[in-house]
Amino acid sequence: MSIETLTKSVRNIPDFPIPGIQFKDITTLFQSASHLKELSEILYDLYKEKGITKVVGIESRGFFMGPATAIKLNAGFVPIRKPGKLPYNVIEETYTKEYGEDTIQIHEDALNEDDVVLLHDDLLATGGTMVAAYNLVKKLGVKKIYINFLIELEELEGRLHFPTDVEINSIIKF
Ligand code: AMP
Repeated sequence: MSIETLTKSVRNIPDFPIPGIQFKDITTLFQSASHLKELSEILYDLYKEKGITKVVGIESRGFFMGPATAIKLNAGFVPIRKPGKLPYNVIEETYTKEYGEDTIQIHEDALNEDDVVLLHDDLLATGGTMVAAYNLVKKLGVKKIYINFLIELEELEGRLHFPTDVEINSIIKF
């Protein structure tokens, strides 16, 4: 299956959740068994040689392929969540995104210096969310961080906000 086929299965919703946003709806991609399998295999092939020990997924849409990828990579899964959701001690970051401001948190003991982390979210827009997540994970002193998105909105140039030595992959580009 081609990337073009996967790309075509993402549904565009104009003006959601606010006017001016072209919302990329991944549910239409996930609902196809063959598309979902292809996505899962692409993710596995990208990271199978990297020694990933933990996949870190960002709430909420990083929780779809994050755990699925962790299982295939024989890695653990760690959630980054919105405030008030994680029950133990957390560290947090506040950031500005395409529509509004937000804070994300991670358990303070979720990662350690031996971890090779794959940070995963559904979509790269301005990069604000993932930069905050990258900073959070960095604070926990891990060995290495890889960054992955299912979708990248290239014209927003979100990837320019990351250090140049960080490997960033996206599968579907708009
Ligand atoms: P950003 O922090 O600007 O890179 O925004 C990324 C986060 O916001 C991701 O978690 C996405 O789920 C969500 N998001 C931002 N823009 C869109 C969009 N156009 N379509 C779907 N999700 C989006």
